[in-house]
Amino acid sequence: MKAMHRSRYSALSLVRHALKEMPWRRAWRAATPQPHYDVIIVGGGGHGLATAYYLAANHGIRRVAVLEKSYIGSGNVGRNTTLVRSNYQLPGNTQFFEHSLKLWESLSHTLNYNVMLSQRGQVVLAHGPAQLDVLARKGNTMLLNGIDAELLDRGEVMRLLPYLDYSSECRFPIYGGLLQRRAGTVRHDAVAWGYARAASDLGVDIIEHCEVTGFIENQGRITGVDTTQGRIHAGRTAIAVAGHSSHLAAMAGLRLPIESHLLQAFVTEAIKPFVDHVISFGAELFYISQSDKGGLVFGGHIDGFNSYTQRGQFPKAQDVAECAVALIPSISRLRLLRHWGGIQDMTPDGSPFIGRTPLRDLYFNGGWCYQGFKATPASGWCFAHTLAHEEEHPLIRHLALDRFERHNGFDEYGLGLWPYRQ
Ligand SMILES: Cc1cc2nc3c(=O)[nH]c(=O)nc-3n(C[C@H](O)[C@H](O)[C@H](O)COP(=O)(O)OP(=O)(O)OC[C@H]3O[C@@H](n4cnc5c(N)ncnc54)[C@H](O)[C@@H]3O)c2cc1C
Repeated sequence: MKAMHRSRYSALSLVRHALKEMPWRRAWRAATPQPHYDVIIVGGGGHGLATAYYLAANHGIRRVAVLEKSYIGSGNVGRNTTLVRSNYQLPGNTQFFEHSLKLWESLSHTLNYNVMLSQRGQVVLAHGPAQLDVLARKGNTMLLNGIDAELLDRGEVMRLLPYLDYSSECRFPIYGGLLQRRAGTVRHDAVAWGYARAASDLGVDIIEHCEVTGFIENQGRITGVDTTQGRIHAGRTAIAVAGHSSHLAAMAGLRLPIESHLLQAFVTEAIKPFVDHVISFGAELFYISQSDKGGLVFGGHIDGFNSYTQRGQFPKAQDVAECAVALIPSISRLRLLRHWGGIQDMTPDGSPFIGRTPLRDLYFNGGWCYQGFKATPASGWCFAHTLAHEEEHPLIRHLALDRFERHNGFDEYGLGLWPYRQ
């Protein structure tokens, strides 16, 4: 009884405090476009906002505008399943994603904004000896690069994740797994709000409901953009529009090897804490975790056809439900609460493009496939460096737009989630 009174009192004081603060201070300034900026960033998702923040914080470049066609958080930064990890295998990607995870580890402190990093660990499961070999190879690559990795045998997976199906009737027997303890989840919209507030405090103009409709070109050089709020000039212009990458680049006359697809996420009704890691199924592209509110959050493959839709659809719900129940039969009676979609920009090799373009003063950041949220801090960090120095940061040199002309690319397609590809 006493405890009840105490909690009612604190709820009341919370409301009183909230009312006293009314009207609430905006987290970032409402800005109107200026005629000229040093840098314009098209796209107010995680990558655009992080780039703006690091331009101001690391390089002292503050005459920066982020132009967002909708509201901050409306794109994939607010639609993803929040997983962060650095279990990559290919030279270049391993170091880039580890840099990102290190930035995640101090991001709440850096931005003075709680992004709710939860390093609960990710286990990628192996359902056969060959898959376990692939995971062992990847784990060794990680260890050689100073990244935490632990190869688990079947018994160790059973002790860590006792709620999976280990029965003799199970559809996909579990042979072992690869654990990265520092992997986990981050509250996605807090990331957008935290970067936006911190960038705005450093002088960056964040301009919402301002759609870029064209680029201003002068003798092979991009000198600004046309928008629904008028023409804006800039020393350098950066594209960071995720699912709209090829559409935007086409406005500047660039044809990119990027396709847009629907990727969906799903959440069940809330249950008591139960799934205490992020788990990646080895038999399909499927992963599951539990949110702080108690819902089981899961996702799978993109839809095979090209699309700019952001809505969920039923066939995919059936696919992921089959995977969920094959892995954890005890959740078969849980109800799906909701599902949603985002536009994912896919490249032929699963790795992004980031850096300069053939047009002077036009820079590009996109094609992040399944990796875009976890890459956000390192992408912003390296892209800001590239814009400031007019030269790619060493960590992204392998992700240049012309890599297919030079060699075969970096086939990282779903590697961290799925042990099939190598
Ligand atoms: C369902 C789902 C689950 C995912 N799960 C994960 C995950 O667990 N881990 C992970 O690492 N990645 C995940 N991803 C991928 C990740 O979310 C994206 O790769 C990443 O967020 C893309 O970068 P962004 O945040 O900058 O994109 P966005 O937030 O999409 O930002 C791009 C912005 O550009 C704006 N824009 C577009 N056109 C224009 C224009 N003409 N003018 C002005 N603005 C424009 C858009 O409105 C949008 O706000 C997931 C994606 C989806 C859809």
